[in-house]
Amino acid sequence: AEEAIIKSEKLSVAGQMAAGIAHEIRNPLTSLKGFTQLLKTKISGSHEYLDIMLGELDRINEIVEEFMTFAKPKEHQFAYGDLTHILSGIVTLLETQAILNNVQIHADFDPDVPQIYCDANQLKQVFINIMKNALEAMPQGGEVRVELSRSGPAAVLVRIVDHGAGIPAEQLEQIGHPFFTTKSSGTGLGLMISFRIIEAHKGKMQFFSEPGKGTEVSITLPVSFAKRTVNQGNS
Ligand code: ADP
Ligand code: MG
Repeated sequence: AEEAIIKSEKLSVAGQMAAGIAHEIRNPLTSLKGFTQLLKTKISGSHEYLDIMLGELDRINEIVEEFMTFAKPKEHQFAYGDLTHILSGIVTLLETQAILNNVQIHADFDPDVPQIYCDANQLKQVFINIMKNALEAMPQGGEVRVELSRSGPAAVLVRIVDHGAGIPAEQLEQIGHPFFTTKSSGTGLGLMISFRIIEAHKGKMQFFSEPGKGTEVSITLPVSFAKRTVNQGNS
């Protein structure tokens, strides 16, 4: 347990640095993108190189934005929130992308789950990350299930199940490590941030996967936890 605590403190310092640097990079980046776009309007003929530059600037921007979500614990906005509401919002948000990917999203929400003490925006980000991974794992289309149920008297369980490519055993342990990605245009940051957010909620996130069959992500979140633990170690 001691080792785990040290690891999370290190992550937290690294996270704050990353958020700070990301913030500083954003302004010059915006300016670079603006002037590159302006150049396109000034130069006649082929814009092949400028388009490559704009594409690469977008890519830096994506990475920077993912880093900025390393919110400092003080900025967490914890309150009682309704997971049914959060999850339905995400299903709606991703529906267009799902249709384009030929994916059907099936939602199965137990109406009796209690509200949980959470930072709704951060949890949204976790679910969006995981749903996007599920869609990206199914280029041929198929079905993604999103389930919400009770898990004992004081916790709730969210399961997101896809029938995509699956994850080989040797990659499973790398999941959540910074920059671990198998995608040509992935950042490998989504799950690292997701693990951090679930940790800040005193919850647990697990991956079960079988190559060729699909992946199940299960997230258990406590209904409430003592407020004093939220900013622990950050004085
Ligand atoms: P990214 O999506 O940018 O690659 P993530 O942190 O979200 O970064 O995911 C890291 C890696 O974990 C992915 O590149 C992929 O190899 C693997 N992965 C995550 N979720 C799934 C899934 N549902 N199915 C298959 N592989 C997955
Ligand atoms: Mg991802």
